[in-house]
Amino acid sequence: MPDALRPSLSLPEGRTKVLLHSCCAPCSGEVMEAMLAAGIDYSIFFYNPNIHPVKEYEIRKNENIRFAQAHGIEFIDADYDVDNWFDRIKGLENEPERGERCTQCFDMRFERTALYAHEHGFDTISSSLGISRWKDMNQINGSGVRAASRYDEMIYWTYNWRKHGGSARMIEISKREEFYQQEYCGCVYSLRDTNRHRRSQGRERIALGVKFYGKEDLITEAKRQTIPAPETALTSPVLASDTAKT
Ligand code: SF4
Repeated sequence: MPDALRPSLSLPEGRTKVLLHSCCAPCSGEVMEAMLAAGIDYSIFFYNPNIHPVKEYEIRKNENIRFAQAHGIEFIDADYDVDNWFDRIKGLENEPERGERCTQCFDMRFERTALYAHEHGFDTISSSLGISRWKDMNQINGSGVRAASRYDEMIYWTYNWRKHGGSARMIEISKREEFYQQEYCGCVYSLRDTNRHRRSQGRERIALGVKFYGKEDLITEAKRQTIPAPETALTSPVLASDTAKT
């Protein structure tokens, strides 16, 4: 990636060490390479108990591990505590994306990120989540700042990774690396709602594990051989009753 095209990057307020919450390889690829190019000291923190089902979680995580290892970046693999995630989201199952459910989801992930950073000598946290055009950056920054404010020494770095060609480089890197391309945000409710939308458009349901950047020609054949992702098969009683209506 031509570093000359990137603006010079430096941490705010003389900060020295970043714990970067990563949601997935496609979103973090550009963020990681930009920080590497700038010589910023950072580690990856993968804490995403929102991702459902576990097969999807493992695929997204392993793609991120592969990329981190290729760049020699420390990868911290945190808990997949789905029970706590469902507890936190209770009552918000039917919220739309970018609504209160997502605020709670971001809060939970960033609170854990900030705690780990506090306990392990990082003075800054940030996230790859904001590079996605599907996300509300103000919502993400709000959650990040709230989480960091729990600790006197910590800040949340609100850098806009989409700007200065960041969004385009995110796609370029994803194609170059042939990253797995997820087709829904991550939680079971986003899977449910995306599939509902697809069906309303006469489209097929999402098939997990088949779509990769730069390999579009392989998708059709792979889908023929893959069972569609279930919308049910959950441990949450709320969801079980909800999806039974679909
Ligand atoms: S839609 Fe995405 S951000 Fe919102 S609750 Fe689900 S996984 Fe979290």
